[in-house]
Amino acid sequence: MDNQRGKGLSFARRIYVPRTVGLGIGCFSVMAALYPLDMPLWIWGLLLFNGFVWPHVALKISTRSAYPFQTERRNMLMDSLFGGFWAASFQFNPLPTVTILSMMTMNNVAAGGQKMLLRGALAQIAGVLIAWTLLGIDFTPHTTPLQIYACLPMLALYPFAVGMVCYRLAIKLAEHKRTLRALSRTDSLTGLLNHGSWKDLLQLSFHQCQQTGATATLALIDIDHFKRINDTYGHIVGDSVLRKLSKQLKDNLRAEDLAGRYGGDEFCVIVPNRSLEQTQDIMERLRQVFSQVLDGDEPGLQVSLSIGLASYRPDFDDASQWLNEADKALYIAKNTGRNKISVAAADLLPGSALSNPG
Ligand code: GH3
Ligand code: MG
Repeated sequence: MDNQRGKGLSFARRIYVPRTVGLGIGCFSVMAALYPLDMPLWIWGLLLFNGFVWPHVALKISTRSAYPFQTERRNMLMDSLFGGFWAASFQFNPLPTVTILSMMTMNNVAAGGQKMLLRGALAQIAGVLIAWTLLGIDFTPHTTPLQIYACLPMLALYPFAVGMVCYRLAIKLAEHKRTLRALSRTDSLTGLLNHGSWKDLLQLSFHQCQQTGATATLALIDIDHFKRINDTYGHIVGDSVLRKLSKQLKDNLRAEDLAGRYGGDEFCVIVPNRSLEQTQDIMERLRQVFSQVLDGDEPGLQVSLSIGLASYRPDFDDASQWLNEADKALYIAKNTGRNKISVAAADLLPGSALSNPG
């Protein structure tokens, strides 16, 4: 409800400037068209109200309303009703009529598409009928040079004002789209890439390695006995552990390293253009730093990591084989005492795998 009201308020404020500009300068087109006709005084009063007071009254009415969006649409129908009224009042003098009614139609279409176009047209017809009832039916088929000049500011400035509003709206929408796209790629708890987007990047890295012969290493990182941490300290502490690990990942990795949350307490990193040994060093630092960071947080809370590493090999058929190798390495780390780094069997050169029982 609040969100809806907020949207309605911004809609009303968006309309305010073009309405003030449009009705202000449109007032002169109407004055020039009415001037040669013998009009009662109240018509001039009504015209001044419509041109210079109504835009501010309309904004007040909308912003005070519980349903500003609907109210603002009603205000726009009021604009159309006035437009029809003025066109019939100056006896359908051609240029002012086209100028005023077409600008209002542009407004209505921009704000509400076909539906608003139709409702606006009906409001204009209602305005015409009211004017005919009060002032009689008559037609003036000629536009004088003065009346042409009086229409020029409206024709030049109003489309500019509406165009600026539409442009600003388009920029805002593009920004929202970018934010939404970023959010759809991000894990909300940790701010790292989520499972789906990390997997997309894994495919991309795999193809890059395949095509360019570049090196890259995958790391799967899992918190040891995380369930026990949740059970002992609660899920809030568990969440904080997950966030701290993701912060450590961000702090210890380069911009081109791609860290994600694979799911639950499992994290995944693609480390491009670094040898397996260099990646081992980075992960070893992470493993050691992570256990120290948490020392002071909760009395007795001890956290350790098991990490599986697999470097890209040209004999992989697809990215899932590569991931599978890292998964097997992680499985070995888990089954040989945890709190250690294991390397995929095929990468294992004598003495290259680190193992640290802690
Ligand atoms: P292992 O050493 O074998 O990895 O054991 P583990 O307890 O870490 O592994 P297990 O897969 O049994 O438990 C993972 C737990 O992570 C279970 C689940 O409740 C918890 N978990 C998953 N997502 C979240 C989360 O977003 N927040 C918290 N606090 N816990 C989570
Ligand atoms: Mg775990």
